[in-house]
Amino acid sequence: MSRIASHLADLQLQIVKTCAKRRIFKHNVQLIAVSKRHSAESIKEAFAAGQRDFGENQVQEAVDKISALSDLDINWHMIGAIQSRKCKDIAQHFDWVQSVDRLKVANKLNEHRSENQAPLNVLIQVNLFGEEQKAGVDAESCKQLAAAIMQLPKLRLRGLMAIPPKQTEPQAQLQQFEQIHQLYQELQNLYPQIDTLSMGMSGDFEQAILAGSTMIRLGTAIFGARD
Ligand SMILES: *Cc1c(COP(=O)(O)O)cnc(C)c1O
Repeated sequence: MSRIASHLADLQLQIVKTCAKRRIFKHNVQLIAVSKRHSAESIKEAFAAGQRDFGENQVQEAVDKISALSDLDINWHMIGAIQSRKCKDIAQHFDWVQSVDRLKVANKLNEHRSENQAPLNVLIQVNLFGEEQKAGVDAESCKQLAAAIMQLPKLRLRGLMAIPPKQTEPQAQLQQFEQIHQLYQELQNLYPQIDTLSMGMSGDFEQAILAGSTMIRLGTAIFGARD
């Protein structure tokens, strides 16, 4: 078994164990392999081990890998900050965009998604703890943005993505994730089609699952440290 395959197997087991603590089924938590700054070869290795969803945060790097690996049936997720001039490439090459945080970007993605592609799955990136160095909207703007995205025919609003601040205490980390989950549920009450809450990374995915995450994004835990 390759190193990446064995990391994936270990992580799947950890996910099952964490889900069991909350009495939820593992298939309710989807694993995204964050392959940014790792090679197409590493992605192939993970794919061979059964991994199908990959996350990238730089458009050009991603487009190169997507072209190189076009024979593999991969779902590509954009998880990085979005410049509006990159929206055309993003709309054409990705299956999911997790980092939508303003209407201008949503409009451009909608404009550039082609008619013969399935609607683009989008998540609104939220930033509930006022961190200025990170992208994302507050709860109030999130609801306005959601209402606007619902009107765009080539986008399908699937939920929320968040990168909350790192806490040293697991309990404090859990509370932040629970606060995000609360907003997710409010939004779900307004728009029942919403089914995805993307939160949890290599260092904190267990707390995220315990708080109700449905999608975790792991890079380091799968591929090792980035340069
Ligand atoms: C890099 C990145 C991850 C993965 O981080 P790890 O700590 O390596 O698991 C997850 N989400 C986003 C948005 C990222 O940019």
